[in-house]
Amino acid sequence: PSWLGVMGGGQLGRMFVHAAQMMGFKVAVLEPARDCPAGHASDHLICADYSDEKALAELAAQCVAVTTEFENVPAQSLAFLADRTFVAPSSACVSIAQDRIAEKRFFIECAAKSGVLPAPHHIVASDADIDAIPDALLPSILKTVRLGYDGKGQARVTTREEVRAAFGKMNGVLCILEKMLPLAYEVSVLAARGADGNSVVYPIAENVHRDGILFTTTVPGPNVTAECAGKAQAAALAIIEQLGYVGVLCIEFFVLQDGSLVVNEMAPRPHNSGHYTIDACVTSQFAQQARAMARLPLGEVRQHSPAVMLNILGDVWFDGDSDEPREPAWDKVLALPGANLHLYGKDDPRRGRKMGHVTFVAPTLEQAQASLQAACAILGIAA
Ligand code: ATP
Ligand code: MG
Ligand code: MG
Repeated sequence: PSWLGVMGGGQLGRMFVHAAQMMGFKVAVLEPARDCPAGHASDHLICADYSDEKALAELAAQCVAVTTEFENVPAQSLAFLADRTFVAPSSACVSIAQDRIAEKRFFIECAAKSGVLPAPHHIVASDADIDAIPDALLPSILKTVRLGYDGKGQARVTTREEVRAAFGKMNGVLCILEKMLPLAYEVSVLAARGADGNSVVYPIAENVHRDGILFTTTVPGPNVTAECAGKAQAAALAIIEQLGYVGVLCIEFFVLQDGSLVVNEMAPRPHNSGHYTIDACVTSQFAQQARAMARLPLGEVRQHSPAVMLNILGDVWFDGDSDEPREPAWDKVLALPGANLHLYGKDDPRRGRKMGHVTFVAPTLEQAQASLQAACAILGIAA
């Protein structure tokens, strides 16, 4: 059997390993932490820093192709691997997605083809930049240019003084100020492009966030109009094409109260909002990644059942203010119609930590939503 490699040992890596193994591949994981979700599932764990050249050379020598599950893998490591084996997505594409300035610049360059623009923004590298913030940009969100996720590295601000205070707390790292937009709802689109240049786009997903973390993904989204879906899917195809990307790419959009579409950010990998594809689509986002990197034909993206995905955070292990974790009532959750439970094999639950997800599939969206409501009641999650 051929070997595929993945940079990063988190849950996205773990689900990739499972999908690739089902297709008959062996999978090697490179990750510094020995105890990691993907490492336990892999056929070979290379336990090393992401930029360790000896480890990278070993991964490249073993694998016909390497991908990443970790958004912040050093771009130089992907370039190093690419001199030795096939790497998808490329270092150049990952670099753009790692840097909110480069990402927005790319979205603007691509706007004539994609039909969407990012939020109005202003780079904040120094106090002088704060003086130059146009009034029309406030209120806004200050975001670190690199390394932010799940709403971390962000501050909501209404005045230049608040920007100054928030920027001061970011320890001098480069930031970008984004206009706070009046969101009606949020959507994401998964696209994939094969090494042969063929692209596919999955059904659009509607996402609800809580405390900056994805809470639920619903497909079809109850708010999503056919026009919005068409525009977002066309934009995603234009973007993946323009990037010359190979692999699975997720693009997040805002739908504003006036119905217009704004592109937020992209993740150069399978995405939390695409987990529904495991149980609801012909080809899961992880199987699609394996196909793309192995330079095989892409799989069908057709959704066969309406689906609702609920993220399972460590919070559900804790009753009230208790510090003593106890196992949630999975037996009751699994008794619900259409329940597909996915736990990531992490044995230390903490509040706010992604521990797993559950996807409810059903003949109708209403039935899937009814199971979601019941699951929230069982797990003590405010619905
Ligand atoms: P992820 O975990 O998706 O990578 P992130 O930390 O990179 O998240 P963003 O997606 O940029 O952060 O923002 C997190 C959430 O904050 C968005 O999903 C949205 O709800 C809200 N948000 C971000 N930017 C804006 C904006 N310009 N206007 C209004 N809301 C925003
Ligand atoms: Mg992000
Ligand atoms: Mg986001």
